[in-house]
Parts: sequence; C-alpha cells; structure tokens
Amino acid sequence: MEISVLTLFPEIFHSYMGVSIMKRAVERGIVDFSVHNLRDYTHDRHRTVDDYPYGGGPGMVLKPGPVSEAVDAIKADGRETLTILLSAGGRLFTQKMAEDFSREGRRLLFIAGRYEGVDERVAIGVADMELSIGDYVLTGGELPALVIIDALVRLMPGALGDEASAEEESFAWGILDYPHYTRPPEWKGMRVPDMLLSGNHKEIARWRRKEALRKTLRMRPELIEREKDRLTEEDRKLIIEIKEEGYGRD
Ligand code: SAM
Repeated sequence: MEISVLTLFPEIFHSYMGVSIMKRAVERGIVDFSVHNLRDYTHDRHRTVDDYPYGGGPGMVLKPGPVSEAVDAIKADGRETLTILLSAGGRLFTQKMAEDFSREGRRLLFIAGRYEGVDERVAIGVADMELSIGDYVLTGGELPALVIIDALVRLMPGALGDEASAEEESFAWGILDYPHYTRPPEWKGMRVPDMLLSGNHKEIARWRRKEALRKTLRMRPELIEREKDRLTEEDRKLIIEIKEEGYGRD
C-alpha cells in the first residue's frame, strides 16, 4: 500500500516511521511511505504557505493553492488516491475505518493542517474526506496522521509478528480487550488470576471473554449497548454473572 503525507514538518514522520512495526512494514515493502513538504509547492521568496483569516480573528490559515498544487503533483502519476484532510471538525476515526483502510487499494494521502487550520476550500474541493482522531484540538495534523497510519498499517497482513495479536485486541470484537498478565505470578501483593495458571484453555477463553465484558461494562458501557445485537447467548449469561459480582475496580 502506498501512503503519502503532506506536511510542513516532514521530520516528525522520520522518527516514528523509522522504528518498530512501522519500520518493519516499510522494510518488508508492505507500505510504500513518502512525506512531502508543503513549502516545496510555494513560489515566493519566503515560501509562504499561510495568510490572515478573512473576517478577522486570531492566527493564520493555510492557503489552498500550495495544498492543491502539492496534491496534484503527488497524484500526477495517475494512481488512484484517497485524500484525507486531518481536521478536528472531521468525522471521528474508528477501528472499523482502520480495518477498511488496511484493505484499501488506493494510495492514501494525508494532509496535515497547522495554525488555525486549512482554508475550507481544501475540504470542499481537494480532499475526499475529513477525519478527526478525537474531540480535542492538537497543534497540527501530523500526530493524527501518524495515529491513523499506525492503526491501519498494523492490521495489514505481515506487519505484526504474531497475526493473531490484532484479532484479539480492543474494538476488534466491538468491545475492549481482556486483561493481560505476565511473570512473576505475584507482584507487590497482586496475584495473577488462578484461572490463567490452570492450563484449561476452554475455561481460560471463557474467563477472558468475561473479563473483556467486565472491563467494557466498567469503562465503556456504551460499547455494550452498541454491540447488543452481536452479543451471544453466552455473553448475555456472562453479563448477568458480572452484574451480580460487580464491575471490579473504578
Ligand atoms: N481551528 C481548528 C478548530 O478549532 O477545529 C483547529 C486547528 S488545529 C490548531 C491545527 C490542525 O491540527 C488542524 O488543521 C488539523 O489538521 C490538526 N488537528 C487538530 N486537532 C485534530 C484532531 N482532533 N483530529 C485531527 N486533526 C486535528
């Protein structure tokens, strides 16, 4: 898959994409990653990318011209491209979108905004969609782009060492992940649950499902409501048990 980013700060991407799973995905050719500097698409001596907002107010706005020119230059090779503008006002990015993107045949091109944001005509006439990573405002679109790239690349076949590990994580089944433990069996007075030491794989699977449901009921009850049509009979029994036992710590 080809992933490109348009940014004023290309260096932000070099460190993150140069380590661990992202690095391996690039080295294995699973991802063809490129970063493009927005300033390379300006034509004045000062390489101006921003200007004052019409109507007044604080801050500067990224001009539509350089963004549009950069996107056209990247797309000039004729490859089909899905252009994504990072924006606090965009649709909320989800694990489901990460799954869809990981199967996407088109090049993904991310536009990272800065300052007060990007001239609205980029959202209207250049980008195919606007995405937000959460209801908070960051300084720029670089971290949101990396968040989305990380979430989708790790789902691509061959990116993770253990293929099973992405299938059992939070949100993969619509609910949160079960708790994980490793050695030692007792640490600072806290014991690993006996069930995990039992060697009974069927019972361990049931315990994990129950604890995943318990954690979801405690932390994100709205996910249980959202997934209610996909819950199995066994899940419903487990939820009744959890409600009798309690949701655990706060
Ligand atoms: N004035 C904008 C607003 O109130 O929505 C905020 C602009 S923000 C300081 C600058 C850039 O950071 C945005 O253009 C966008 O690219 C990026 N950004 C900030 N928060 C984001 C979020 N939650 N999701 C995606 N991108 C975000």
